[in-house]
Amino acid sequence: MTTLAAAPRAFAADDKVAPPPDLFDAQGLDLEFWLKPRVLSVVRPQSGEKAKVLFWQDGQLIDSAYQELCHILRDVNGRKTAAIDPKLLDTLWGTQAYCARFGIEQPLEILSGYRTPESNLRLIEQGVPAARQSLHIKGKAADVRIARLTPDVLGGLVRSFRQGGVGFYYREGPKGGWIHADTGLQRTWNG
Ligand SMILES: [Zn+2]
Repeated sequence: MTTLAAAPRAFAADDKVAPPPDLFDAQGLDLEFWLKPRVLSVVRPQSGEKAKVLFWQDGQLIDSAYQELCHILRDVNGRKTAAIDPKLLDTLWGTQAYCARFGIEQPLEILSGYRTPESNLRLIEQGVPAARQSLHIKGKAADVRIARLTPDVLGGLVRSFRQGGVGFYYREGPKGGWIHADTGLQRTWNG
């Protein structure tokens, strides 16, 4: 008899005998995790901004905090703020909160969030990896890094939330690579 190990777990409230979650697999998270207040701690290396923002509590997005996060994830070059998909914020928060369970409490570095079409085109012209129809233009993507986590580990965790696409950008050097996370179709690639 075989077990369908790949089947997604149901989050049953009376699931007392559930095994501990596998390291860095978000599918093992329980309902309690998702009901906690969501505080995102971010830095924007490009502008030097830092923020720790409680953006979701008691089942609701907190509008002023949401606006603040949209501002932090703005197009710093193009100086334009746009709406960021709240689902993306949830995935970023979930990633950070999950890491915190293992004592990894660094802020999430936002390398890129929303991009104007002009900024995105400029990146392509400069040879920076960027898609022409990038989800950054729609406020549905962010390029992120967490200090000490490799793209493999961070990207594997982001992917395990099953909320959209994940790009793994491996780079040499002290800062290492980064991860592209979006709320589009579930897919992965190396860039
Ligand atoms: Zn990206």
